[in-house]
Amino acid sequence: MDNLDAAQNSVYEEEEQDVDPFHEEGMNLDTEDISEAGSSDIDRLNLDSDVADKARELRRRAPGVIFTSGRRDIARQARAMAGNVVVNRRWIEQTYRSTTAIRSLQQWVNSHPNADTVDEIARGLTDLMNAMPEAQRMGISKHLSGRAFDVKPNSCPTSAITALSPRQFLQREGGLVIWHVGF
Ligand SMILES: [Zn+2]
Repeated sequence: MDNLDAAQNSVYEEEEQDVDPFHEEGMNLDTEDISEAGSSDIDRLNLDSDVADKARELRRRAPGVIFTSGRRDIARQARAMAGNVVVNRRWIEQTYRSTTAIRSLQQWVNSHPNADTVDEIARGLTDLMNAMPEAQRMGISKHLSGRAFDVKPNSCPTSAITALSPRQFLQREGGLVIWHVGF
């Protein structure tokens, strides 16, 4: 690849997604139900420390806020994607903005037509994401690097979130109302 150095400078913006489709396809939110009251709920989000500070700031501004998701591991992200790919093999390219990471994930699917179970696809996507440079991986979802949390819609005013100056504040994804806050 040419111009790699130049590309590095803008890689975060180029790779950044403006979707967080993890929740769209019937994921069982109970598995990431971390919405119990108390200060430890923010600890359990396992966020980067400056992002955890933002979550605490949000709690101070809006004590009733309910956090529904924080850092996710690669295997979980891959499994969520695989669950969609198994029913639509073009789901990745149709859902995400085209970035280096997304193109390589879609290419893996295209070049493994015999991988037709969630387990096989998830394993392939996990291996691929593990091998990616951090900046590429982070562009797929800020949850992977602990730089995003999701908030139960209307559990706080939107103004309390925008006051945090997030890089991302997504309020609707694929018909589902999800509040995703990324830094
Ligand atoms: Zn999110």
